[in-house]
Amino acid sequence: MQNLRPTSLKEFIGQKRVVEELSIYINSVKQRRDAFPHTLFIGAPGLGKTTLSRIIALELRRNLKQTSGPVLDKPGIIASLLTSLRDGDILFIDEVHRIPKVCQEILYTAMEDFALDIVIGKGSASKTIRLKLPKFTLIGATNKPNLCLPPLLDRFQLVFKLDFYDEAELAEIIERAGKELGLNLERQASLLLAKAGKGIPRQALNLLRRLDNYLNGTNQGLKDLITADTVREFLRLLDIDEWGLSPEDRRYLFTLYYHFNGGPAGLESLALASQLSPSELETIFEPPLIRLGLVSRTRRGRVLTELGKRYILEQGLVFPKRQPNVPF
Ligand code: ADP
Repeated sequence: MQNLRPTSLKEFIGQKRVVEELSIYINSVKQRRDAFPHTLFIGAPGLGKTTLSRIIALELRRNLKQTSGPVLDKPGIIASLLTSLRDGDILFIDEVHRIPKVCQEILYTAMEDFALDIVIGKGSASKTIRLKLPKFTLIGATNKPNLCLPPLLDRFQLVFKLDFYDEAELAEIIERAGKELGLNLERQASLLLAKAGKGIPRQALNLLRRLDNYLNGTNQGLKDLITADTVREFLRLLDIDEWGLSPEDRRYLFTLYYHFNGGPAGLESLALASQLSPSELETIFEPPLIRLGLVSRTRRGRVLTELGKRYILEQGLVFPKRQPNVPF
């Protein structure tokens, strides 16, 4: 299956300011033939952090090594990773905030000094030797920068915060990816999918892939223009409503309304009651609902907003079923 990833900055839709700034740095590094500055991308899952990191490496024709925070849980693992790099290589670490603190310390020293201090022996007989490292670039991605040690954050020379995409941008992403899949969508059709993507390219593209399977399954001509009515029918089967909300989204909102009287509710108890894992709830479902103004996060917990309450009344107060078992 195609991964539908853009491979150059020109193909990357949205995040205009980030793309403009990146293209300036890429051009200047190309001319100086230097290492790219250490860079941090901040933003919810699926907004394009990995894609942008790959584009930087592709545009600069540099090697890219990809790993993620939870894997780097021992100093030895970090040391062997760093010593395997070559000058100019790019090391991409997803979920950089999940690296344990001792390992974050090794990393930020290496980022600044391009050296690794290794302690040999124990007690009074121990000595530290300094190992020189190649001039590499670290690109980190995170949705929780506050869990990184401040000195690690300080070592990133470039920090970019990715925003949610507006519907026109998501529709463009969908149309372009649709062409790769051989799907020809009319504008209203891609706008409907964009709405259900809730500002996140990954969610929008997942829906597009499901639409592709659905059309294959229903033997509808792929060469035909896909109309808004076809997409409406598809979304209805997935039980995605006119707000673009899925049964999981509704379960979250209704749980907050019924079990917690609109809140405030703590993350763990809300997750338990709405049958979602706390991390899913926090990273995948909640950010779009907050952005739509249906939920807000306060010091005391999650609260349903006035708009959130209005949404529930509009839905006729019917508690949503678990997601229907659809074959695509
Ligand atoms: P993240 O690393 O932030 O979780 P990814 O870079 O993996 O997100 O992006 C998720 C999916 O969305 C990928 O298939 C990617 O190609 C696509 N995508 C993200 N941003 C864009 C964009 N601006 N234009 C086109 N596709 C995008």
